[in-house]
Amino acid sequence: MTIAEFHPPHRLLLGPGPSPVEDRVMRALAAPTLGHLDPVFLACMTDVQHLLRYVFETQNRVTFPVSGTGSAGMEAALANLLEPDEEVIIGIHGFFGERMYEMATRLGARPIRVEAEWGRPLDEQAMKAALDRSRARVVCVVHAETSTGVLQPIEPIARWVAEREGILIVDAVTSLGGHPVGVDRHGIGVCYSGSQKALSCPPGLAPITFSESALEKVRRRKTPVPNWYLDVSLIERYWGSERCYHHTAPINMNYALREALRIVAEEGLEARWRRHERNARALWAGLEAMGLELLVPREHRLWTLTTIRVPEGVEDGRVRARLLEEFNIEIGGGLGPLRGKIWRVGLMGAGSTRGNVLLFLSALESVLRREGVRCGSGVSAAVEAYGG
Ligand SMILES: *Cc1c(COP(=O)(O)O)cnc(C)c1O
Repeated sequence: MTIAEFHPPHRLLLGPGPSPVEDRVMRALAAPTLGHLDPVFLACMTDVQHLLRYVFETQNRVTFPVSGTGSAGMEAALANLLEPDEEVIIGIHGFFGERMYEMATRLGARPIRVEAEWGRPLDEQAMKAALDRSRARVVCVVHAETSTGVLQPIEPIARWVAEREGILIVDAVTSLGGHPVGVDRHGIGVCYSGSQKALSCPPGLAPITFSESALEKVRRRKTPVPNWYLDVSLIERYWGSERCYHHTAPINMNYALREALRIVAEEGLEARWRRHERNARALWAGLEAMGLELLVPREHRLWTLTTIRVPEGVEDGRVRARLLEEFNIEIGGGLGPLRGKIWRVGLMGAGSTRGNVLLFLSALESVLRREGVRCGSGVSAAVEAYGG
């Protein structure tokens, strides 16, 4: 049997992830595969851990990439920290908060929902009240809700959780590398991310970090962690000083993550945040000048992902298909209650550039005009936002 070689096209990935991957990272991926206990690979693991501590802004010893995508990071956080029948507060302001709730339920915990309208952040007082009314010690929150484009402020929630000696689990899948996360600054208990969003690596690894108090809670469990593969006390023996076999790490993906993190470190976290902010603001200026409406109020917007309301009478899927076919540009549609109602435009990692902002605005303008929408020009407003 012969099947033709696979030649995927080069797309401009401006959706909710995966984000564009730099050639340097692709070259790292193609290096020779080593054994998972080869001393050269062990050195690569050490580098990945150093670099991850830098991007998470933490000194946590137990910091490593989970072998799996962002959802595996979520599962690792919840499966280790939650015990059966344990109450846990889950902030839900979008699709990924719902996913946390679903996982906590399957783990046999008793999740307590604190909800906000999709497109708005959680009410911090409501989170505090729920915590005070319950016996929960663990609080879960999504920092960057990729389904809505909302940035959830972490600081006030982190403060209350710390005052009650609780443990905060933060989903930073779409913020790490694009927004400040500050694991140690905020006293976050467990924080996880994904390789393919603002870190600009292919999908497949989920960076995660555990504080000492989070690990202490894992050690005191009455029941074993229900998921063998994601049990941090076992994985720790591989990613810790013992370097003892647990599972075969995805070797080449770790080369790629190392290279993607090297790029983050070369640019510097602060400069990277500013770049994401600058390009997002120019995009917003352009979209608003076109007469489009953004879902999220300015002060709560993510820099890594912008959500646009689909104008009245416009067919969501047709516009996205034309962007893909005519311009090779991928953007995302809405999830859950926002399906068909919004577009999701990611400017993540290597994708967050001035060139991409201007190209996307002109492409969208061209498609919308031909779909019968009367819209203004976004490009010149964006250029102006950059200072000319
Ligand atoms: C993408 C994403 C996830 C899930 O990551 P996968 O890599 O798709 O498994 C979880 N949380 C948030 C906020 C995300 O954006």
